[in-house]
Amino acid sequence: MNCPQCGQEMRCGNLHTRNYPFWTQQELSFFRSPTDTVEVAPLDDDTTSMFTRDPFPTFPGAWLCRSCGLVVFSGKLLEKRK
Ligand SMILES: [Zn+2]
Repeated sequence: MNCPQCGQEMRCGNLHTRNYPFWTQQELSFFRSPTDTVEVAPLDDDTTSMFTRDPFPTFPGAWLCRSCGLVVFSGKLLEKRK
């Protein structure tokens, strides 16, 4: 796969994280947690409970562009609004 940002060839591997990464359009602050987030869980992960979650989730089939740093991977999106 070629990078949609810079056109260079991307490499496929596994992306490892600690806990689920989350995405938000809000500013993060030390004093206030974001109220509108999307957590990204592995597609095959059991997300039913905090206790069944893998603390070190792996996202297989993640694409990395060494030229511009773009990382592309798929996950199960967990919308959270407070
Ligand atoms: Zn790139």
